[in-house]
Amino acid sequence: MSVNTVAYKEIIDQFLLTDTTLVAVSKTKPNEDILALYELGQRDFGENYVQELVDKAAALPKDIRWHFIGHLQSNKVKYIAPFVHLIHGVDSLKLLREINKQAAKCNRVVPCLLQIYIAKEESKFGLDESELAEIMEEATSLTNISIQGFMGMASFTDNPEIIQTEFSYLHLLFQKHKAWIETNSSSTPILSMGMSGDYSIAIEQGSTLVRIGSLLFGARNYAK
Ligand SMILES: *Cc1c(COP(=O)(O)O)cnc(C)c1O
Repeated sequence: MSVNTVAYKEIIDQFLLTDTTLVAVSKTKPNEDILALYELGQRDFGENYVQELVDKAAALPKDIRWHFIGHLQSNKVKYIAPFVHLIHGVDSLKLLREINKQAAKCNRVVPCLLQIYIAKEESKFGLDESELAEIMEEATSLTNISIQGFMGMASFTDNPEIIQTEFSYLHLLFQKHKAWIETNSSSTPILSMGMSGDYSIAIEQGSTLVRIGSLLFGARNYAK
């Protein structure tokens, strides 16, 4: 086990002061690692792969709040709709409609974040401003989802200025739509931005929720 409990405690103390939520990103990591942080009081965990999330949720304590942070395919929504706490990466109307449909089947309102495209990289997912406007308009008529905020991923770069500019843009967009989010979700709006390498910049730029994996659990080994 390679869980960095020292880093965890430091992060938690810092986040208490800034009122930031920590989602511990446990993708590819074993259940023992999740339990190690659970014992320290951590309840929010993030996963990227549907099957892995379903297996972990079945095996681990029921009061864990599971965040789906990966790219979600519409045909897999049904597996997580019964229990998922928050879906971070909603980037199309098709996906949002499917979440609404599956949530209705389990008599739930599923909380969602809209993923905004902020990086200069083609490989990243997310909505541009006109797609955002379109999706927000339809979202008001979907009764089994609730849009609780926005999520974004900055460019993968060592240049802090680029990251800062991208996060600052997302924060502005969030400010602009905050009242709408508050009204539609009847909850405190969430801005999900920041990971192991850039979370300090994200918090400076107004993030309310940070997704941290490797800093807590060590580097991921996809090969095994
Ligand atoms: C994997 C992942 C993270 C965590 O990344 P680290 O750099 O390990 O902290 C955060 N957000 C998303 C969307 C991810 O896929």
